[in-house]
Amino acid sequence: MFAITQNLQAVHAQIVHAAQAAGRDATAVRLLAVSKTFDFHAVLAAIEAGQRAFGENYLQEAVDKIAAVQAALPTLPTSEIEWHFIGPMQSNKTRPIAEHFAWVHTVERSKIAERLSQQRPAELAALNVCIQINISQEASKSGVAPDEALGLAREVQALPNLRLRGLMAIPAPVENDADNEVEQQFARMQQLFSTIQAELGSADFDTLSMGMSNDLALAIRYGANMVRIGSAIFGQRPPFHSQ
Ligand SMILES: *Cc1c(COP(=O)(O)O)cnc(C)c1O
Repeated sequence: MFAITQNLQAVHAQIVHAAQAAGRDATAVRLLAVSKTFDFHAVLAAIEAGQRAFGENYLQEAVDKIAAVQAALPTLPTSEIEWHFIGPMQSNKTRPIAEHFAWVHTVERSKIAERLSQQRPAELAALNVCIQINISQEASKSGVAPDEALGLAREVQALPNLRLRGLMAIPAPVENDADNEVEQQFARMQQLFSTIQAELGSADFDTLSMGMSNDLALAIRYGANMVRIGSAIFGQRPPFHSQ
């Protein structure tokens, strides 16, 4: 598990480097360690190395892992580790998400947002929410269309047990990206984020969640302040689990 410590250090160095190149403050960029497909020992190693925020995509795997981490660290306050749900959501699976996570990055429909708010346990703080944007505008991709994002943001903002924090995107990969299409997707996200931020006028709306292992620096150049990094920390995943 020594590799995880080293990998985390390397990712932090990449963040610092990318922020400097962009003229930004590296401490404003949060690192979310995406631990999907890796077992709780990998999470424990990352915690040992100082990491506190973790992203998960698969609900049952995540719920089991959260319990295993808590059992392994009985003296660590549960609020110390911050779990983020970053996978696709079905409306019949919202309850465990509302119960076990501090953040959800993949809200794309008001019906799902309403259920999350209803199902958020009263003893927990409001659930932090990012709206996922289909920035490549491909029909097959998850997320709300950019021109529908402000409307959904206002709906989420009105829900009592949710706290609207920002936007999230997964730019569609482009083979042989001669036209810098991926870069344009990040640039559109930065623009959309600042437009919605200005419209809402809410200090809570402070998070632009984008950037993965392969495009972290580019995302930071375009204003990402929460990067979601999996394989660069934990290693390669089996191919069928690549998303
Ligand atoms: C898997 C995944 C990541 C991490 O991807 P890497 O390429 O391994 O860094 C980030 N965000 C989402 C939504 C993911 O599904």
